[in-house]
Amino acid sequence: MVTEDRREWDVKTLLEAARMARDHAYVPYSGFGVGAVFMDADGHLHSGCNVENAAYGPTNCAERTALFRAIADGRKPGEFRVAAVIGDTDAPITPCGVCRQVMVELCRPDMPVLLGNLRGDYRWTTVAELLPGAFTSTDLQPQRSS
Ligand SMILES: [Zn+2]
Repeated sequence: MVTEDRREWDVKTLLEAARMARDHAYVPYSGFGVGAVFMDADGHLHSGCNVENAAYGPTNCAERTALFRAIADGRKPGEFRVAAVIGDTDAPITPCGVCRQVMVELCRPDMPVLLGNLRGDYRWTTVAELLPGAFTSTDLQPQRSS
């Protein structure tokens, strides 16, 4: 497993790409737009925004939109190198629990995640730091018959 050095990533470039993804957010109910990007092994940025629904439940977050889009485009789980998420929050935005679980499934535990806001504040974390004790495929053991 290769550990990426978060210092090698350009914060401004990643946050600007996430901000541009946020511009596409469909948020007629909350007005709370979020943008996210995930960089694959080739350096391509897969972007996503949140997409709301009048029924609320079908609403999809920016992080999952970006990841599902990347998988649908042929990227493989574990090949993402870095992610960035941005929203109009006081402190750098933080992913919801559902997105954290999806990131655990599709990203390496040590993948750097850049969290930012529109003021330019940001902080680095990792997938593992976002969801300690996550339920993963290794928890899905076949039932033993006795
Ligand atoms: Zn989410």
